[in-house]
Amino acid sequence: MISRRLISRWRYLRDREKLLVPLKSYGVLNVLLVFPNVYSVGISNLGFQRVFSLLCRHSDVLCDVMYYPDDEILPDIEAGQELCSFYLEKTPSEFDVILFSVSFENDLLNVIRLLRLMRLPILAGERDESHPLIIGGGIVPTANPEPFAPFFDALFLGEAEAGLDGVIELYGDADSRGSFLEKVAKFKFVYVPLLESPKDCKKVRAFWKDVVNEPTCSCVVTPFSSFGESFMVEVSRGCPRRCNFCLSSYVCRPVRFVSVEAIKNAIEKRPVNKVGLLGTSVSEHKRLPDLIARYRDVEFSFSSIRIDAKEQFFNVLRHSGARTLTFGIEAASQRLREAIGKPVPDELIFERLKVLSSDFEAVKLYFMVGLPGEEDGDISAFDVFLKKAKGVFKGRISLSIAPFVPKPFTPFEREPFAGQSQLKSKIKRIKKIASQFKGVNVNYDLPKWSEVQALISCGDRDVGFYLAGIKKKIDKERYLSRKEGTLPWRFITLLS
Ligand code: SF4
Repeated sequence: MISRRLISRWRYLRDREKLLVPLKSYGVLNVLLVFPNVYSVGISNLGFQRVFSLLCRHSDVLCDVMYYPDDEILPDIEAGQELCSFYLEKTPSEFDVILFSVSFENDLLNVIRLLRLMRLPILAGERDESHPLIIGGGIVPTANPEPFAPFFDALFLGEAEAGLDGVIELYGDADSRGSFLEKVAKFKFVYVPLLESPKDCKKVRAFWKDVVNEPTCSCVVTPFSSFGESFMVEVSRGCPRRCNFCLSSYVCRPVRFVSVEAIKNAIEKRPVNKVGLLGTSVSEHKRLPDLIARYRDVEFSFSSIRIDAKEQFFNVLRHSGARTLTFGIEAASQRLREAIGKPVPDELIFERLKVLSSDFEAVKLYFMVGLPGEEDGDISAFDVFLKKAKGVFKGRISLSIAPFVPKPFTPFEREPFAGQSQLKSKIKRIKKIASQFKGVNVNYDLPKWSEVQALISCGDRDVGFYLAGIKKKIDKERYLSRKEGTLPWRFITLLS
C-alpha cells in the first residue's frame, strides 16, 4: 500500500506548481528521475529540471520524478508502506529505469536509503532482469564515481544533453540488461562499474557546447523553490575564476556564457514576472547588466554574485526587493584568500559593504575553515574583519562557516581534510570572536558531516560499501590525509 501521507504531500506540492512540460501517461520506456533530497532542494536545481524536461520531450519515454520523503513521512515507508512517484503516483517497480541526479556528496546516503525504501537490492551485482535499471549522474559522481560504483548499474559522466538520449535509446533496443550494459560501457562518457574499474578504463566527461544558444530554463515553477516563485534561466556554465577549491569551476570546463539573444528569448517566455538568472558565474557575464536594464517591469534575482561584481548587478538587486545579499568571502584574511586563489582585496570588500549598507538589511558571508595554508592568524583575523565590516555595514551580518573539503580535479584535490577536533575548535574560536559584535550571528556545518563529505569526495568503492554498512571499518585517514599516488578519479578526462 502506498503511503497516504506521501500522496497527500505530493498532491499539496503539485497543486502549487506550474508545470511547463508535457507529462505523458504512456511511454515505451518508463523512467523515474529521482532527486535524493527533499522537494525544495530538488526543484531549485536547474540541472535536475533540465534532465526532467529532456526526458519528457523524448518521444518514447514516460518520465516521472521523485524526491526524498520528508521526515514525518519516512516512518510510514520504513514500516512497510510504499513510495510513489510525484505526478503519476506509480510505485518504483513500475519503472524500467530509475535515474538518480546527485548534486551533493552526502546525498549518496539518501541514494542508499531510497534504494532500500524502494525494496530494491542496493548493490548493482545483486539486481537482475526483474529490477529497474539504476543509473546515476550529476556533478558529484562525474567528478568521482567510485564511492557510487557499488550501487549503480551505470553512471553518466558529464552533461545530460550530450548523450542521455543515446543511452535511453540503447536501453530501449537492448534485448537484455547484460547486453545493454556491455554496449553502453563502450560509450566514453558512461561508466559501468560491474564491468569496468579505474585500472582498466578511460572515460571522458560529456560536454555540451550548445548551452550557449539553448540555455536551461525552468520546466516547473513553484513558490517552494529556494529562488521563490521565479522562472529560472541558466546564463553560464563553469566559472573562469578557477579558485583552487571550487569543484564546478574545474569540472564544468570549458566555461560557457549563454548568448544575450538566447537569454532574451528565455526571459520573453517567462510564465511569471520573477526571473532567476542562474549559473556559477552570473556576475562574470559581461553583457547581462545591459540586457537586464531593458526589462524594467521584471523582478530579477541571481544565484550567486561575487562581491567584486559590477555595480549594475547590485543596482538590479536594489530594485528587486531583495533585502539580504550572500557572498562567498572564504577567508577572513587577504593573505589566505590569495593563497586559495580568490584574491579579493580587503579594501574592496569593505568598500562594497559600505555602499550596500543603505539598501540591504543583512548580508550572509560564507567562509571556510581548515583551508590549505591556513594559519592561526587567519582565524584571529575574524576579529579585525568583523570590526571593519560592522564599521561600514549597519545591518545584520551572518557568518556561514563550512569546513574545507578537498574536491577532485581542483588544485587542492590532494590536500588533507583538517579533522573534526581541529575544525570544532576553530569554529568555537570564530563563534567567540563573533559574540563580541552586536548583530553578528554564526551558522556552521557540523564537522562530522563534512568528514562524510570528504570521504565521498575523495573516496573509492570501499567508502561506498562502508557508508552502506556492508563494510564495517575503513582506514579513514587514508582518504582524509594528504593523498599520494594515483587518485580514484584519474581515469576520467575533462576538457579544458
Ligand atoms: S568565483 Fe565562485 S564559482 Fe568561480 S571559481 Fe571561485 S568559488 Fe568557484
